Amino acid sequence: MTRLGEVAVITIGDELLLGQTIDSNAAFISRELAKHGFRVAIRITVGDDEEAISNSVRDALDRSRVVICTGGLGPTQDDFTKPVVARLFGADLVLDEQLLEQLRERFRQRGIVMAERNICQAEVPRGARVLPNPRGTAPGLLLTRDDGACCILLPGVPHEMRGLILEQVIPFLEQRATERAHPISYRTLRTTGIAESAVAEKLDGVVAAVRPLTLAFLPSIPGTDLRITCWGDLGESDAAAAIAAAETRIRSALQSHIYGADDDDLAAVVGELLRAQGLTVAVAESCTGGLVGKRLTDAAGSSDYFLGGIIAYANQVKHELLGVSINTLREHGAVSEAVAREMAAGARRQTGASAAIAITGVAGPGGGTPDKPVGTVWIAASLNQATETRRSVWGGDREEIRERAAQAGLALLWKLLRAPAASATPVAQVPVHEKL
Ligand code: ATP
Ligand code: MG
Repeated sequence: MTRLGEVAVITIGDELLLGQTIDSNAAFISRELAKHGFRVAIRITVGDDEEAISNSVRDALDRSRVVICTGGLGPTQDDFTKPVVARLFGADLVLDEQLLEQLRERFRQRGIVMAERNICQAEVPRGARVLPNPRGTAPGLLLTRDDGACCILLPGVPHEMRGLILEQVIPFLEQRATERAHPISYRTLRTTGIAESAVAEKLDGVVAAVRPLTLAFLPSIPGTDLRITCWGDLGESDAAAAIAAAETRIRSALQSHIYGADDDDLAAVVGELLRAQGLTVAVAESCTGGLVGKRLTDAAGSSDYFLGGIIAYANQVKHELLGVSINTLREHGAVSEAVAREMAAGARRQTGASAAIAITGVAGPGGGTPDKPVGTVWIAASLNQATETRRSVWGGDREEIRERAAQAGLALLWKLLRAPAASATPVAQVPVHEKL
Protein backbone atom coordinates (compact mmCIF):
# COMPACT_ATOMS: atom_id res chain seq x y z
CA MET A 1 0.00 0.00 0.00
CA THR A 2 1.83 3.05 -1.12
CA ARG A 3 -0.84 5.45 -2.21
CA LEU A 4 -4.44 6.33 -1.64
CA GLY A 5 -7.13 4.92 -3.83
CA GLU A 6 -6.18 1.31 -3.66
CA VAL A 7 -8.89 -0.43 -1.69
CA ALA A 8 -11.94 -2.11 -3.20
CA VAL A 9 -14.84 -3.25 -1.02
CA ILE A 10 -17.17 -6.04 -2.13
CA THR A 11 -20.25 -6.67 -0.04
CA ILE A 12 -21.95 -9.99 -0.67
CA GLY A 13 -25.55 -10.98 -0.04
CA ASP A 14 -28.87 -11.27 -1.85
CA GLU A 15 -30.51 -9.29 0.98
CA LEU A 16 -28.33 -6.29 0.04
CA LEU A 17 -29.37 -6.45 -3.62
CA LEU A 18 -33.01 -6.86 -2.65
CA GLY A 19 -32.78 -3.77 -0.48
CA GLN A 20 -33.90 -5.68 2.60
CA THR A 21 -30.67 -4.89 4.41
CA ILE A 22 -28.95 -1.55 4.12
CA ASP A 23 -25.30 -2.00 3.29
CA SER A 24 -23.93 -0.55 6.51
CA ASN A 25 -20.77 -2.68 6.26
CA ALA A 26 -19.50 -0.82 3.20
CA ALA A 27 -20.14 2.57 4.81
CA PHE A 28 -18.37 1.53 8.00
CA ILE A 29 -15.32 0.22 6.13
CA SER A 30 -15.04 3.39 4.00
CA ARG A 31 -15.30 5.61 7.07
CA GLU A 32 -12.79 3.72 9.20
CA LEU A 33 -10.26 3.34 6.41
CA ALA A 34 -10.54 7.03 5.55
CA LYS A 35 -9.71 7.92 9.15
CA HIS A 36 -6.45 6.06 8.72
CA GLY A 37 -5.56 7.45 5.32
CA PHE A 38 -6.73 4.52 3.19
CA ARG A 39 -9.14 5.50 0.50
CA VAL A 40 -11.78 3.14 -0.75
CA ALA A 41 -11.82 3.72 -4.49
CA ILE A 42 -14.53 1.31 -5.51
CA ARG A 43 -17.43 -0.51 -3.87
CA ILE A 44 -19.40 -3.33 -5.38
CA THR A 45 -22.33 -5.38 -4.11
CA VAL A 46 -23.06 -8.83 -5.48
CA GLY A 47 -25.58 -11.53 -4.59
CA ASP A 48 -24.99 -14.96 -3.09
CA ASP A 49 -23.87 -16.28 -6.46
CA GLU A 50 -20.61 -18.09 -7.14
CA GLU A 51 -20.00 -16.62 -10.55
CA ALA A 52 -20.81 -13.07 -9.49
CA ILE A 53 -18.53 -13.32 -6.47
CA SER A 54 -15.73 -14.82 -8.54
CA ASN A 55 -15.96 -12.24 -11.32
CA SER A 56 -16.17 -9.26 -9.01
CA VAL A 57 -13.23 -10.35 -6.85
CA ARG A 58 -11.11 -11.08 -9.94
CA ASP A 59 -11.91 -7.68 -11.50
CA ALA A 60 -11.32 -5.86 -8.22
CA LEU A 61 -7.93 -7.55 -7.79
CA ASP A 62 -6.94 -6.31 -11.26
CA ARG A 63 -7.56 -2.71 -10.20
CA SER A 64 -6.86 -2.60 -6.50
CA ARG A 65 -4.04 -3.84 -4.34
CA VAL A 66 -6.39 -4.64 -1.49
CA VAL A 67 -9.86 -6.14 -1.83
CA ILE A 68 -12.07 -6.46 1.25
CA CYS A 69 -15.13 -8.73 1.04
CA THR A 70 -17.86 -9.11 3.63
CA GLY A 71 -20.56 -11.76 3.85
CA GLY A 72 -21.08 -15.32 2.75
CA LEU A 73 -18.53 -16.84 5.13
CA GLY A 74 -21.00 -18.84 7.16
CA PRO A 75 -21.74 -22.58 7.08
CA THR A 76 -24.97 -22.44 5.09
CA GLN A 77 -25.71 -23.39 1.49
CA ASP A 78 -25.72 -19.77 0.42
CA ASP A 79 -22.21 -19.05 1.72
CA PHE A 80 -19.80 -19.32 -1.22
CA THR A 81 -17.22 -16.66 -0.58
CA LYS A 82 -14.42 -18.78 0.85
CA PRO A 83 -14.31 -21.63 -1.73
CA VAL A 84 -14.78 -19.19 -4.62
CA VAL A 85 -11.93 -16.90 -3.57
CA ALA A 86 -9.72 -19.86 -2.68
CA ARG A 87 -10.21 -21.13 -6.24
CA LEU A 88 -9.27 -17.72 -7.67
CA PHE A 89 -6.05 -17.84 -5.67
CA GLY A 90 -5.41 -21.45 -6.74
CA ALA A 91 -5.49 -22.57 -3.12
CA ASP A 92 -7.22 -25.71 -1.87
CA LEU A 93 -9.09 -25.71 1.43
CA VAL A 94 -7.36 -27.41 4.33
CA LEU A 95 -8.72 -28.13 7.76
CA ASP A 96 -7.10 -26.02 10.45
CA GLU A 97 -7.09 -28.28 13.52
CA GLN A 98 -6.50 -25.43 15.93
CA LEU A 99 -9.41 -23.48 14.48
CA LEU A 100 -11.61 -26.59 14.65
CA GLU A 101 -10.79 -27.04 18.33
CA GLN A 102 -11.61 -23.37 19.02
CA LEU A 103 -14.89 -23.81 17.19
CA ARG A 104 -15.78 -26.95 19.17
CA GLU A 105 -14.88 -25.14 22.39
CA ARG A 106 -17.17 -22.26 21.47
CA PHE A 107 -20.08 -24.62 21.01
CA ARG A 108 -19.18 -26.55 24.23
CA GLN A 109 -19.25 -23.31 26.24
CA ARG A 110 -22.72 -22.66 25.02
CA GLY A 111 -23.80 -26.21 25.80
CA ILE A 112 -24.61 -26.96 22.15
CA VAL A 113 -23.45 -29.96 20.11
CA MET A 114 -21.65 -28.67 17.06
CA ALA A 115 -23.33 -29.64 13.81
CA GLU A 116 -21.10 -31.36 11.22
CA ARG A 117 -21.90 -28.55 8.85
CA ASN A 118 -19.82 -26.18 10.95
CA ILE A 119 -16.60 -28.09 10.33
CA CYS A 120 -16.22 -26.22 7.04
CA GLN A 121 -15.82 -23.02 9.05
CA ALA A 122 -12.46 -24.38 10.22
CA GLU A 123 -11.27 -24.88 6.64
CA VAL A 124 -8.72 -22.36 5.48
CA PRO A 125 -7.39 -21.74 1.95
CA ARG A 126 -3.85 -23.05 1.91
CA GLY A 127 -1.42 -20.25 2.74
CA ALA A 128 -4.11 -17.86 3.98
CA ARG A 129 -3.72 -16.01 7.25
CA VAL A 130 -6.48 -16.49 9.79
CA LEU A 131 -7.80 -13.26 11.35
CA PRO A 132 -9.27 -14.28 14.72
CA ASN A 133 -12.92 -13.39 15.25
CA PRO A 134 -13.70 -13.67 18.96
CA ARG A 135 -17.29 -12.48 18.32
CA GLY A 136 -18.40 -15.25 16.00
CA THR A 137 -17.71 -18.63 14.43
CA ALA A 138 -16.29 -17.60 11.05
CA PRO A 139 -12.80 -16.06 11.26
CA GLY A 140 -11.59 -13.47 8.81
CA LEU A 141 -9.16 -14.69 6.13
CA LEU A 142 -6.33 -12.94 4.35
CA LEU A 143 -5.10 -14.29 1.02
CA THR A 144 -2.06 -12.78 -0.66
CA ARG A 145 -1.03 -13.17 -4.30
CA ASP A 146 2.60 -13.48 -5.42
CA ASP A 147 2.51 -9.90 -6.70
CA GLY A 148 1.39 -8.64 -3.28
CA ALA A 149 -2.27 -7.98 -4.11
CA CYS A 150 -4.44 -9.34 -1.36
CA CYS A 151 -8.01 -10.24 -0.60
CA ILE A 152 -9.48 -10.05 2.90
CA LEU A 153 -12.63 -12.04 3.66
CA LEU A 154 -14.78 -10.94 6.58
CA PRO A 155 -18.08 -12.25 7.93
CA GLY A 156 -21.18 -10.27 7.05
CA VAL A 157 -22.53 -9.91 10.59
CA PRO A 158 -21.95 -6.20 11.23
CA HIS A 159 -20.52 -6.30 14.75
CA GLU A 160 -18.16 -9.16 13.86
CA MET A 161 -17.04 -7.32 10.72
CA ARG A 162 -16.49 -4.10 12.71
CA GLY A 163 -14.32 -5.86 15.28
CA LEU A 164 -12.20 -7.44 12.55
CA ILE A 165 -11.73 -4.15 10.67
CA LEU A 166 -10.58 -2.32 13.80
CA GLU A 167 -8.50 -5.07 15.39
CA GLN A 168 -7.07 -6.89 12.38
CA VAL A 169 -7.50 -5.15 9.03
CA ILE A 170 -6.41 -1.61 9.88
CA PRO A 171 -3.30 -2.76 11.80
CA PHE A 172 -2.46 -5.01 8.81
CA LEU A 173 -2.88 -2.17 6.29
CA GLU A 174 -0.83 0.19 8.46
CA GLN A 175 1.98 -2.29 8.82
CA ARG A 176 1.90 -2.95 5.07
CA ALA A 177 1.97 0.70 4.08
CA THR A 178 5.40 1.75 2.92
CA GLU A 179 4.56 5.40 2.38
CA ARG A 180 1.95 6.48 4.85
CA ALA A 181 -0.90 8.57 3.59
CA HIS A 182 -2.33 11.11 6.01
CA PRO A 183 -5.80 10.66 7.43
CA ILE A 184 -8.63 11.94 5.29
CA SER A 185 -10.23 14.80 7.18
CA TYR A 186 -13.37 16.79 6.62
CA ARG A 187 -15.59 19.48 8.00
CA THR A 188 -19.22 19.99 7.11
CA LEU A 189 -20.92 23.38 7.16
CA ARG A 190 -24.70 23.28 7.33
CA THR A 191 -26.93 25.77 5.54
CA THR A 192 -30.67 26.17 5.48
CA GLY A 193 -33.16 28.35 3.63
CA ILE A 194 -31.05 28.65 0.48
CA ALA A 195 -31.32 26.48 -2.60
CA GLU A 196 -28.39 24.27 -3.59
CA SER A 197 -27.98 26.18 -6.86
CA ALA A 198 -27.86 29.51 -5.00
CA VAL A 199 -25.23 28.10 -2.65
CA ALA A 200 -23.22 26.96 -5.67
CA GLU A 201 -23.49 30.39 -7.27
CA LYS A 202 -22.22 32.14 -4.16
CA LEU A 203 -19.32 29.70 -3.95
CA ASP A 204 -18.36 29.98 -7.61
CA GLY A 205 -14.75 31.02 -7.12
CA VAL A 206 -14.31 29.15 -3.85
CA VAL A 207 -14.20 25.63 -5.29
CA ALA A 208 -11.04 26.39 -7.27
CA ALA A 209 -9.51 28.51 -4.52
CA VAL A 210 -9.57 25.79 -1.87
CA ARG A 211 -7.71 23.14 -3.89
CA PRO A 212 -6.31 20.57 -3.14
CA LEU A 213 -9.29 20.41 -0.81
CA THR A 214 -12.57 19.48 -2.45
CA LEU A 215 -15.97 20.94 -1.77
CA ALA A 216 -19.07 18.75 -1.99
CA PHE A 217 -22.65 20.04 -2.09
CA LEU A 218 -24.98 17.70 -0.22
CA PRO A 219 -28.61 18.80 -0.45
CA SER A 220 -31.16 17.19 1.85
CA ILE A 221 -34.42 18.14 3.53
CA PRO A 222 -32.94 20.24 6.35
CA GLY A 223 -30.78 22.17 3.87
CA THR A 224 -27.62 21.98 1.82
CA ASP A 225 -24.53 20.75 3.63
CA LEU A 226 -21.10 21.70 2.36
CA ARG A 227 -18.39 19.16 3.00
CA ILE A 228 -14.81 20.34 2.80
CA THR A 229 -12.54 17.32 2.37
CA CYS A 230 -8.80 17.00 2.61
CA TRP A 231 -8.02 13.69 0.94
CA GLY A 232 -4.89 12.88 2.87
CA ASP A 233 -2.34 14.69 0.72
CA LEU A 234 -1.56 17.20 3.48
CA GLY A 235 -0.10 16.51 6.92
CA GLU A 236 -2.48 16.79 9.86
CA SER A 237 -1.70 20.36 10.92
CA ASP A 238 -1.54 21.62 7.32
CA ALA A 239 -4.87 19.94 6.64
CA ALA A 240 -6.45 21.55 9.69
CA ALA A 241 -5.16 24.98 8.64
CA ALA A 242 -6.34 24.52 5.04
CA ILE A 243 -9.80 23.41 6.18
CA ALA A 244 -10.05 26.37 8.55
CA ALA A 245 -9.07 28.76 5.73
CA ALA A 246 -11.64 27.19 3.40
CA GLU A 247 -14.28 27.49 6.12
CA THR A 248 -13.56 31.20 6.52
CA ARG A 249 -13.97 31.75 2.77
CA ILE A 250 -17.22 29.82 2.68
CA ARG A 251 -18.63 31.56 5.73
CA SER A 252 -17.90 34.97 4.26
CA ALA A 253 -19.57 34.02 0.97
CA LEU A 254 -22.69 32.59 2.61
CA GLN A 255 -22.87 34.83 5.65
CA SER A 256 -26.18 34.28 7.39
CA HIS A 257 -27.14 30.94 5.88
CA ILE A 258 -24.78 28.72 7.89
CA TYR A 259 -26.34 27.58 11.13
CA GLY A 260 -23.76 25.08 12.24
CA ALA A 261 -21.11 22.52 11.44
CA ASP A 262 -20.77 18.73 11.35
CA ASP A 263 -23.57 17.15 13.42
CA ASP A 264 -25.18 20.41 14.60
CA ASP A 265 -28.96 20.40 14.49
CA LEU A 266 -30.87 23.63 13.89
CA ALA A 267 -33.27 22.92 16.78
CA ALA A 268 -30.36 22.60 19.17
CA VAL A 269 -28.75 25.77 17.76
CA VAL A 270 -32.03 27.65 18.31
CA GLY A 271 -32.25 26.16 21.82
CA GLU A 272 -28.77 27.37 22.72
CA LEU A 273 -29.57 30.90 21.53
CA LEU A 274 -32.77 30.89 23.60
CA ARG A 275 -30.88 29.65 26.64
CA ALA A 276 -28.10 32.19 26.21
CA GLN A 277 -30.61 35.05 26.01
CA GLY A 278 -32.76 33.73 28.88
CA LEU A 279 -35.78 33.30 26.54
CA THR A 280 -38.52 30.69 26.33
CA VAL A 281 -40.39 29.25 23.37
CA ALA A 282 -43.74 27.61 22.63
CA VAL A 283 -45.11 26.08 19.43
CA ALA A 284 -48.49 26.09 17.67
CA GLU A 285 -48.57 23.38 15.05
CA SER A 286 -51.14 22.34 12.54
CA CYS A 287 -49.77 20.32 9.60
CA THR A 288 -46.51 19.40 11.38
CA GLY A 289 -48.49 17.71 14.18
CA GLY A 290 -45.88 18.33 16.89
CA LEU A 291 -42.73 17.86 14.84
CA VAL A 292 -41.25 21.23 15.83
CA GLY A 293 -41.93 20.46 19.48
CA LYS A 294 -40.26 17.08 19.02
CA ARG A 295 -37.21 18.62 17.36
CA LEU A 296 -36.84 21.22 20.13
CA THR A 297 -37.20 18.62 22.89
CA ASP A 298 -34.75 16.20 21.25
CA ALA A 299 -32.03 18.26 22.92
CA ALA A 300 -31.28 17.28 26.52
CA GLY A 301 -31.90 20.22 28.83
CA SER A 302 -34.57 21.73 26.57
CA SER A 303 -36.82 22.24 29.60
CA ASP A 304 -34.71 25.35 30.24
CA TYR A 305 -36.38 27.10 27.32
CA PHE A 306 -39.18 24.96 25.83
CA LEU A 307 -42.50 25.59 27.60
CA GLY A 308 -44.90 23.52 25.50
CA GLY A 309 -47.11 23.58 22.48
CA ILE A 310 -50.57 23.24 21.08
CA ILE A 311 -51.27 20.93 18.17
CA ALA A 312 -54.13 22.80 16.60
CA TYR A 313 -55.27 20.68 13.69
CA ALA A 314 -58.98 21.57 13.67
CA ASN A 315 -60.14 25.16 13.19
CA GLN A 316 -62.07 24.84 16.41
CA VAL A 317 -58.86 24.12 18.32
CA LYS A 318 -57.08 26.97 16.54
CA HIS A 319 -59.87 29.21 17.75
CA GLU A 320 -60.59 27.87 21.22
CA LEU A 321 -57.10 27.05 22.41
CA LEU A 322 -55.03 29.54 20.44
CA GLY A 323 -57.54 32.35 20.11
CA VAL A 324 -57.37 32.55 16.33
CA SER A 325 -60.36 34.71 15.39
CA ILE A 326 -63.28 33.20 13.52
CA ASN A 327 -63.24 36.11 11.13
CA THR A 328 -59.61 35.50 10.27
CA LEU A 329 -60.30 31.81 9.67
CA ARG A 330 -63.30 32.63 7.47
CA GLU A 331 -61.72 35.45 5.53
CA HIS A 332 -58.26 34.00 4.95
CA GLY A 333 -58.69 30.26 5.49
CA ALA A 334 -56.70 28.11 7.93
CA VAL A 335 -53.62 28.14 5.69
CA SER A 336 -52.86 31.84 5.65
CA GLU A 337 -50.44 34.40 6.95
CA ALA A 338 -53.03 35.93 9.26
CA VAL A 339 -53.82 32.58 10.89
CA ALA A 340 -50.14 31.71 11.30
CA ARG A 341 -49.58 35.07 13.03
CA GLU A 342 -52.52 34.59 15.35
CA MET A 343 -51.43 31.03 16.15
CA ALA A 344 -47.99 32.29 17.18
CA ALA A 345 -49.50 35.06 19.29
CA GLY A 346 -51.91 32.57 20.87
CA ALA A 347 -49.14 30.10 21.76
CA ARG A 348 -47.25 32.87 23.52
CA ARG A 349 -50.32 34.16 25.30
CA GLN A 350 -51.29 30.70 26.55
CA THR A 351 -47.83 29.74 27.76
CA GLY A 352 -46.22 33.05 28.61
CA ALA A 353 -43.30 32.22 26.29
CA SER A 354 -41.13 35.00 24.90
CA ALA A 355 -41.01 33.31 21.48
CA ALA A 356 -43.20 31.07 19.34
CA ILE A 357 -43.17 29.12 16.11
CA ALA A 358 -46.50 28.55 14.35
CA ILE A 359 -47.09 26.40 11.27
CA THR A 360 -50.20 25.87 9.18
CA GLY A 361 -50.19 24.21 5.78
CA VAL A 362 -51.40 21.58 3.35
CA ALA A 363 -49.13 18.51 3.70
CA GLY A 364 -51.21 16.47 1.26
CA PRO A 365 -51.68 14.24 -0.56
CA GLY A 366 -55.29 15.57 -0.45
CA GLY A 367 -56.63 18.97 0.53
CA GLY A 368 -54.98 21.15 -2.11
CA THR A 369 -56.83 23.91 -3.98
CA PRO A 370 -55.76 25.95 -7.03
CA ASP A 371 -54.62 28.91 -4.91
CA LYS A 372 -53.35 26.74 -2.03
CA PRO A 373 -51.86 23.64 -3.66
CA VAL A 374 -50.45 20.72 -1.68
CA GLY A 375 -47.17 21.87 -0.16
CA THR A 376 -48.39 25.37 0.69
CA VAL A 377 -47.28 26.24 4.20
CA TRP A 378 -47.48 29.48 6.18
CA ILE A 379 -45.05 29.89 9.04
CA ALA A 380 -44.86 32.58 11.69
CA ALA A 381 -42.11 33.10 14.22
CA SER A 382 -42.55 35.58 16.96
CA LEU A 383 -40.02 36.95 19.42
CA ASN A 384 -40.56 39.80 21.83
CA GLN A 385 -42.15 42.55 19.71
CA ALA A 386 -41.23 41.05 16.35
CA THR A 387 -43.14 38.62 14.16
CA GLU A 388 -41.85 37.25 10.87
CA THR A 389 -43.87 35.19 8.45
CA ARG A 390 -43.09 33.26 5.32
CA ARG A 391 -45.01 31.28 2.77
CA SER A 392 -43.56 28.31 0.93
CA VAL A 393 -44.86 25.89 -1.62
CA TRP A 394 -42.81 22.74 -1.39
CA GLY A 395 -42.78 19.68 -3.59
CA GLY A 396 -42.33 16.20 -2.19
CA ASP A 397 -44.51 13.82 -0.25
CA ARG A 398 -46.34 14.42 3.01
CA GLU A 399 -43.35 13.43 5.14
CA GLU A 400 -40.95 15.70 3.25
CA ILE A 401 -43.31 18.67 3.38
CA ARG A 402 -43.74 18.29 7.12
CA GLU A 403 -39.99 17.97 7.69
CA ARG A 404 -39.27 20.99 5.50
CA ALA A 405 -41.91 23.00 7.32
CA ALA A 406 -40.48 22.14 10.75
CA GLN A 407 -36.97 23.09 9.61
CA ALA A 408 -38.22 26.34 8.05
CA GLY A 409 -40.09 27.21 11.26
CA LEU A 410 -36.94 26.74 13.29
CA ALA A 411 -34.97 28.74 10.69
CA LEU A 412 -37.38 31.65 10.95
CA LEU A 413 -37.02 31.85 14.72
CA TRP A 414 -33.25 31.42 14.35
CA LYS A 415 -33.24 34.48 12.07
CA LEU A 416 -35.17 36.53 14.65
CA LEU A 417 -32.94 35.38 17.47
CA ARG A 418 -29.87 36.63 15.65
CA ALA A 419 -31.35 39.99 14.68
CA PRO A 420 -34.27 40.67 17.00
CA ALA A 421 -34.38 44.37 16.33
CA ALA A 422 -34.02 44.22 12.56
CA SER A 423 -37.46 43.02 11.58
CA ALA A 424 -39.62 44.21 14.45
CA THR A 425 -43.34 44.45 13.75
CA PRO A 426 -45.92 44.42 16.54
CA VAL A 427 -47.54 41.11 17.52
CA ALA A 428 -51.16 41.05 16.37
CA GLN A 429 -53.62 41.42 19.20
CA VAL A 430 -56.40 38.90 18.80
CA PRO A 431 -59.75 38.55 20.57
CA VAL A 432 -59.72 35.23 22.40
CA HIS A 433 -63.18 33.85 23.14
CA GLU A 434 -65.17 34.17 20.00
CA LYS A 435 -67.32 31.15 19.15
CA LEU A 436 -66.99 29.28 15.88
P1 ATP B 1 -22.67 -16.16 9.20
O1 ATP B 1 -21.57 -16.92 9.79
O2 ATP B 1 -23.53 -15.53 10.24
O3 ATP B 1 -23.48 -16.91 8.16
P2 ATP B 1 -21.81 -14.64 6.93
O4 ATP B 1 -20.45 -14.14 6.65
O5 ATP B 1 -22.30 -15.76 6.10
O6 ATP B 1 -21.94 -14.94 8.46
P3 ATP B 1 -24.10 -13.35 5.99
O7 ATP B 1 -24.85 -14.63 6.17
O8 ATP B 1 -23.82 -12.90 4.62
O9 ATP B 1 -22.76 -13.42 6.76
O10 ATP B 1 -24.80 -12.20 6.81
C1 ATP B 1 -25.06 -12.33 8.20
C2 ATP B 1 -25.91 -11.19 8.70
O11 ATP B 1 -25.25 -9.96 8.50
C3 ATP B 1 -27.24 -11.08 7.97
O12 ATP B 1 -28.24 -10.71 8.89
C4 ATP B 1 -27.01 -9.99 6.98
O13 ATP B 1 -28.21 -9.32 6.67
C5 ATP B 1 -26.03 -9.09 7.71
N1 ATP B 1 -25.20 -8.42 6.69
C6 ATP B 1 -24.47 -9.06 5.74
N2 ATP B 1 -23.84 -8.17 4.95
C7 ATP B 1 -24.17 -6.94 5.42
C8 ATP B 1 -23.83 -5.62 5.02
N3 ATP B 1 -23.02 -5.41 3.97
N4 ATP B 1 -24.36 -4.58 5.70
C9 ATP B 1 -25.16 -4.83 6.76
N5 ATP B 1 -25.52 -6.05 7.18
C10 ATP B 1 -25.03 -7.11 6.53
MG1 MG C 1 -24.44 -16.57 6.06
